[in-house]
Amino acid sequence: MTNDPRKYQRLRESMVKNQIEARGITDPDVLRAMGTVPRHLFVSEALMDQAYADNPLPIGEQQTISQPYIVAHMTQSLALSKDDRVLEIGTGSGYQAAILSEIVFRVYTIETIRTLHMQARKLFDELKYTNIVTRYADGTNGWADESPFDAIIITAGAPGIPEPLVDQLAMGGRMILPVGDRLTQDMVKLYRDEDGIHQSKLGGCRFVKLVGEYGWSGD
Ligand code: SAH
Repeated sequence: MTNDPRKYQRLRESMVKNQIEARGITDPDVLRAMGTVPRHLFVSEALMDQAYADNPLPIGEQQTISQPYIVAHMTQSLALSKDDRVLEIGTGSGYQAAILSEIVFRVYTIETIRTLHMQARKLFDELKYTNIVTRYADGTNGWADESPFDAIIITAGAPGIPEPLVDQLAMGGRMILPVGDRLTQDMVKLYRDEDGIHQSKLGGCRFVKLVGEYGWSGD
């Protein structure tokens, strides 16, 4: 077993082709980002060889890095442009933030578990993701000082749509989040225009819990 970067590049190319493109993701920026970010560096050494498989993986603290297709699907649904400022709730491993950072101007990401926050911050520095700003806090309150955001992505399952986050969405802004009970959720997309907030459902999904003031209680 070697850590040959070419081995991981081959696994990454095959992931993009067989899991992402094959399931209908067409946004060239999303395909490029998924083909660029070294996903294996966002999991523990023991799991590196599984990093490009078609499933989520544990990242410690009972949390998970999402399945590659889910990351691609949520990212594409945000219809991002290169000048966008994006807020992510649930930094976790940092993988989704890294994907966003390849596409947009700046990524703000909040994590509520201190060890995961610190680990991700260190990795962003090592990999020179200089346009990612991190914060250790309850993300359900958003990041008022840096708002409004062109896009907001919540990568944990919420019992409802956190109101502060809707308030921090710019005109023309898009937001995506899983909403449902503790075990299964619907992927919900919100869009703000002159008429107000529009909402649509994109299908079923399964995420770890969003815990916080506008999320689940921590039990
Ligand atoms: N985007 C991550 C996936 C993270 S799993 C990745 O690419 O790896 C969901 C993460 O949301 C967990 O790390 C969890 O601790 C975090 N989380 C849950 N509730 C939160 C809250 N209120 N604010 C910020 N992060 C939260």
